[in-house]
Amino acid sequence: MKRPFWLLLLCVVLLNGCDSTPEPTDNTTDTTISSEPYSNIAPTSITRLVMGTLVTITIWNESDIDQPTVAAREQAVVNAFAEIQRVDAALSRHQPKSEVSHINTLARGEFHPISDELAELMAQALAITDQSENTFDAGLLPLITLWGFSQEPPPTLPPQADEIAFWLKQRPTPGIILQKKPKADAIGHEIKLVNLAVGLDLGGIAKGYAIDRATETLQAEGIQNALINAGGDLRVLGSKGARPWKIGIQHPRSPSRVIAVSNLVGPRAMVTSGDYERVFFHQDIRYHHILDPSTGEPSRSDVISVSVQADNATLADALSTTLFVMGLEKGLALLEHYENVDALFIHEDASYYQTKGFKAQWMGPPTSE
Ligand code: ADP
Ligand code: MG
Repeated sequence: MKRPFWLLLLCVVLLNGCDSTPEPTDNTTDTTISSEPYSNIAPTSITRLVMGTLVTITIWNESDIDQPTVAAREQAVVNAFAEIQRVDAALSRHQPKSEVSHINTLARGEFHPISDELAELMAQALAITDQSENTFDAGLLPLITLWGFSQEPPPTLPPQADEIAFWLKQRPTPGIILQKKPKADAIGHEIKLVNLAVGLDLGGIAKGYAIDRATETLQAEGIQNALINAGGDLRVLGSKGARPWKIGIQHPRSPSRVIAVSNLVGPRAMVTSGDYERVFFHQDIRYHHILDPSTGEPSRSDVISVSVQADNATLADALSTTLFVMGLEKGLALLEHYENVDALFIHEDASYYQTKGFKAQWMGPPTSE
């Protein structure tokens, strides 16, 4: 049902009390820079566009005299943003000068040296690839390029079936080999992409990693209570004084609404993967950007959104992508291998399942429009 214009206007004016207004939560994105210069208690909150996403870093402060000054807090946030930018420059396959882009230009079937930082992240990615029987795959660049999800303009048609079939035939498992440099006196690691059906794309894990690195930057500056929110994927440190951080989860079919609210006390991360972020429709079929490598197509499991809570955002990010592809039953089996990881699975009909520790307060599906 269409709402009359005056009602919409009233919603905007009141910013409250209308059913389309999301529950106020700590991860509502705004673009303000706020901090009261003469108070050591007010939160510092800065939003910037980094990694192609609006990222907000908020520092909460108690009146504790050990807390950094306002200037120090702002500097800590600036440093955390610089760290996110550094990680993006190193790991994004969209940055032509990144290490990941460089590796993608090198010959297949041979080992090449990689930095310690990338080796460490690849080791985490490959562990999840193993655990998920190749469902999580940081080597899907050729398939992702075939689908064209991150191209401008975005795709409107799926690729030809024979192109996908060709990729499936060529896809090696494992497609990425990481090893210590074999020479006795050598230090560091080297990586091999097995053939041309493999290319690095860390889109399923790198945002979480950047959040973790930014969190560590804040911690190194003495910050104890903070929220780093990269478009809904986030990590918290500490709390908001006596209260936990209150985190809203977006309704997968109605982005301005909050479907569930979860209270987090840090260090804890929450990352969501859904079928609504990059998407097109062709002949009424939804095509989205999270691919099932076993079919070469956007995954069609029984879930449309999965949120994962874990102690760090790297793991939460990789697992949210993985569980999204696996669906509820296989996803729950995978979770048994991980400690202190919880998940909320949302189905197309807006019914849901959450593991014991997730503890989200369910706000329910929206009333019909
Ligand atoms: P987003 O980053 O959009 O919030 P995800 O964390 O779920 O969402 O990651 C989706 C991205 O991960 C895709 O855009 C692509 O770069 C990559 N990706 C897609 N399918 C897979 C997969 N099966 N395994 C690992 N990475 C994937
Ligand atoms: Mg992910």
